[in-house]
Amino acid sequence: MTTIAVLPGDGIGPEVIRAAVGVLAVVRPDLECIEAAVGAAALSAGEAPLPDETRALCDRSAAILFGAVGSSEYDEAPLSRRPEKALFSLRHDYGLFANIRPVRVYPGLEAESSLLPGLVEGLDLIVIRELTGGIYFGTPKEQRVGADGVEEAVDTMFYRAPEVERIARVAFEFAQGRRKHVTSVDKHNILETSGLWRRIVNRVSRDYPDVRLEHLLVDNAAMQLIRRPRDFDVILTENMFGDILSDEAAMLTGSIGNLPSASLGARDASGTTFGMYEPISGTAPDIAGKGIANPTAAILSTAMLLRYSLADHTSADRIEAAISRAFREGARTADLTASGARSFTTIEFSDFVIDRL
Ligand code: NAD
Repeated sequence: MTTIAVLPGDGIGPEVIRAAVGVLAVVRPDLECIEAAVGAAALSAGEAPLPDETRALCDRSAAILFGAVGSSEYDEAPLSRRPEKALFSLRHDYGLFANIRPVRVYPGLEAESSLLPGLVEGLDLIVIRELTGGIYFGTPKEQRVGADGVEEAVDTMFYRAPEVERIARVAFEFAQGRRKHVTSVDKHNILETSGLWRRIVNRVSRDYPDVRLEHLLVDNAAMQLIRRPRDFDVILTENMFGDILSDEAAMLTGSIGNLPSASLGARDASGTTFGMYEPISGTAPDIAGKGIANPTAAILSTAMLLRYSLADHTSADRIEAAISRAFREGARTADLTASGARSFTTIEFSDFVIDRL
């Protein structure tokens, strides 16, 4: 039996993951979904942010379905005792270097976008973010007191050519299955890491002559994303730029609660890979516990899990089609009611999706 490790985590994590597992169970009742603690939920039970039993479950699973982690209670704790440590460990230890974030405006949701409906109608792009390098992982990384007694801090942005090459290949391969256009985003005019990034991406692009490559500086990319979002197909970028640009892109769809993600490692011969699948949002402490979070990102994350870790494209298509139908027929959680629609609770929304499978 195929096992899926289900790590709901904190805040709205358990709420949206419960809804998503409900959908997954209808489409693939044969999967064994086993829950384990992670993040603040684990810390408050006296365990590490990623307890050994949780890691052991992940080791024997085909994929991880993850909610979100974080709690202000641990803001002052050292990184090793912070909920986020679990996320960084999972990404790093399983070599999940490729973060795939599809950004789609489903028909009917145009009026919820921060942009004019005419600018986002039919929007369909993918952000491919490098996930295990760059400034989030480079060392030295610390707060300290300098030799002159002044408090200071340092983070280090560091990339090696093979890290850039493998994520660039992921982007070009995705583009080949889409509109064959990669926009690589860097800060070439200032950062040395961007100099390396651009050189390697140019080199890799020679192996994909059917794909058009364009380079944008990150500040310009942030601007073009809200000026002409439909001109993008695949956005390839490093860890921090991808983190920021994908939240911006999320708002084009109306809510961050719509955006799923896959964090993938190297693919095996069958084309599948171990991966971690999660909404791109955090724990949303402002709405946690109210039962009103949008479960779309979590539900769509299960579709990505089926597609990339289990090669079950039929079930993935079914879930995506059911979400699309639910939106078309007017189902909206509270974050998507700018147009004045009645809002569904988390579970009402996922039940509505299940009815449309
Ligand atoms: P957030 O993404 O949790 O919330 C930002 C805003 O979006 C909030 O107003 C929230 O209500 C809303 N939102 C997010 N998801 C939603 C959903 N599904 N439905 C409706 N509205 C939704 O970001 P934040 O407030 O900056 O961070 C909160 C906590 O989450 C912090 O502790 C942070 O460290 C953590 N965090 C965790 C992850 C992760 O686990 N992958 C990612 C980002 C932030």
